Amino acid sequence: MRLVLLGPPGAGKGTQAKVLAEKYHLLHLSTGDLLREAVKNKTATGSEAKKYMDRGELVPDEIVAKMITDRLAAADKKQGFMLDGFPRTQGQAEILERALAGLGMPLDIVVNLETSEAVILQRLTGRRICRSCGRIYHLKNMPSKKSGICDDCSGELYQRDDDKEATIRRRLEVYESQTKELIDFYQAKSLLQNASGDLEVKVLFAELSALFKRLNLA
Ligand code: AMP
Repeated sequence: MRLVLLGPPGAGKGTQAKVLAEKYHLLHLSTGDLLREAVKNKTATGSEAKKYMDRGELVPDEIVAKMITDRLAAADKKQGFMLDGFPRTQGQAEILERALAGLGMPLDIVVNLETSEAVILQRLTGRRICRSCGRIYHLKNMPSKKSGICDDCSGELYQRDDDKEATIRRRLEVYESQTKELIDFYQAKSLLQNASGDLEVKVLFAELSALFKRLNLA
């Protein structure tokens, strides 16, 4: 299965992508994770990207598109993939379409997670992430057993710099002005399926699993 997860920041893309990729043995590519890794490793791409990420703006298309297309070109064709946080502009979607056509791996489905603003704000302000393994927690909805410590690897939990309220607002504006149009883009290609990002993690996971089955994708 070759899939894109679309939705505003806080829709739960990263959380669903992790569990779905595990269940269906998919290659999970998240541009946000790849960029944060580059920032952490202080690479040239990382320091360029950080300027945009700290402001809640999008990193230029060429940088993120290259990160993804390089990895897709090197991927096992039979495995399938799940893209989370990419594409985020029509330009990126067009680059992706061309790259996948060249590789003979067109998309099967784009899942759009429709999410209400109240849920988004509550999720993002309470989100915490393990610095070592990347597991995602929430202070109220999904707390770790010991405060500030990852259940899986005992790593330190941290709050992303761009999960502070002012940057969250900017990221939501950027989603409205630059990413939301991808819903129409993929609808016109008959690839779009909507699901509710407001649902609790396990409920949404079950709905998406049922959807893939219904569409004969899994
Ligand atoms: P995310 O983890 O998906 O919320 O992404 C965090 C930040 O990384 C975003 O606010 C952007 O600054 C940057 N970013 C992630 N994915 C993309 C993308 N596809 N295009 C441009 N910037 C991106």
